[in-house]
Amino acid sequence: MHTGFSRDLDALLSLTHRVVASVTSPEARAVDEGCRWPAASMQAFADAGLMGLQAPYELGGHGQGLLALSMVTAAIGEACPSSALCFGMHCVGTAVIAAKATDFQRERYLRAIAEGRHITTLALSESGTGAHFYLPATRLTRAGDDYLVDGSKQFVTNGGHADSYVVSSIASEAQCERGDFSCLIVDADTPGAAFHGDWQGFGMRGNSSRSLRLEAARVPATNLLGAEGDQVWYVFEVVAPYFLMAMAGTYLGIAKSALDAAGEQLRNRRFEHSGTVLGDVETMQTRYAAMWTAYQKSKALVITAAQKGDRGDPDALPFILASKADAGDTAIALANDAMSICGGSAYRENSRVGQMLRDARASHVMSPTTDMLHIWTGRALLGMPLL
Ligand SMILES: Cc1cc2nc3c(=O)[nH]c(=O)nc-3n(C[C@H](O)[C@H](O)[C@H](O)COP(=O)(O)OP(=O)(O)OC[C@H]3O[C@@H](n4cnc5c(N)ncnc54)[C@H](O)[C@@H]3O)c2cc1C
Repeated sequence: MHTGFSRDLDALLSLTHRVVASVTSPEARAVDEGCRWPAASMQAFADAGLMGLQAPYELGGHGQGLLALSMVTAAIGEACPSSALCFGMHCVGTAVIAAKATDFQRERYLRAIAEGRHITTLALSESGTGAHFYLPATRLTRAGDDYLVDGSKQFVTNGGHADSYVVSSIASEAQCERGDFSCLIVDADTPGAAFHGDWQGFGMRGNSSRSLRLEAARVPATNLLGAEGDQVWYVFEVVAPYFLMAMAGTYLGIAKSALDAAGEQLRNRRFEHSGTVLGDVETMQTRYAAMWTAYQKSKALVITAAQKGDRGDPDALPFILASKADAGDTAIALANDAMSICGGSAYRENSRVGQMLRDARASHVMSPTTDMLHIWTGRALLGMPLL
């Protein structure tokens, strides 16, 4: 590889490409058609040691940051966006746990994650507050050495398949400001925690985005992440950057596969009446050039944002915010263009290009949504508070 990245990251990307080619690509169609959680891919990522991408190095993980997350999810997303989303949310959950982990949490969760024995994920969104994922209504009540957790989470990626869920709730201290919340790790087998319904999505059909009901779910106080009311720190220092770069990578992967599908059609679609290929048509040449340019611009923005975030550059925030919005819109635009270029074969039900378009549309509804990111980017550039 000649990416200009570190040797460690190049090695991780080579490994990812091998796993994707041998396991993820072959199962991608069945994942989409059957709304099937990508079990084989997630197991293959674990076997390859990739599930510890964000786990600390000293616990056996790779200790990688935003650049690795965005590039690995892009490599997976090129073949199967649902797998990239499932993998990405596990990595975001890992980063949230790792940010202020206690010794107990490091041993119980992060070591198991690094060894590929544990899948985690984020359960933040609620139907009452929708895209405002930072305003949970889920409540914590202290009960001795435990918390009792009551509330409902919607659209939990990896729902029913993860071993633990990073759940947000209103901080239990009454004097907290509106919006103050705490995060805690809820184990999958916690009494009082149950998943409902199946996931039948328009796109991202394999991500098992199910609803989680928590009724007096008893969680040890040792599973609280950070201090009560650490919400601003978690949202803007960990959840948002890791989530945004995982998703920017996923959409970049979709954009690349749309570009490749268009290129293949332009080279290979030959007309009987003229003996020429579609790529001989000038309109198609300019359309393809515009697609390639849009992809390269979006990729450059994603890489710049991730590198700035990893370095802790003071101006990283607007880059990170803009990355996911731009990669999402690039994926939608390129999938739409590929749909035109690939013609009737792409327009049939369950076509690969059709799936790209369906999967890319998740970008506008997954929070922080595209509209919210545009507002936040503007505010960040103007030096205004985001919320
Ligand atoms: C495939 C998929 C996977 C998901 N995975 C997870 C997950 O793993 N964990 C998790 O916690 N959540 C997850 N979500 C939930 C997601 O992040 C959103 O919370 C959810 O989709 C919001 O849905 P809603 O209909 O309630 O949105 P609404 O809040 O009703 O928003 C609808 C539209 O209005 C816009 N809007 C609303 N308020 C504003 C505003 N103030 N400014 C600008 N625009 C606004 C939104 O941008 C959106 O386009 C997932 C969602 C999907 C679709």
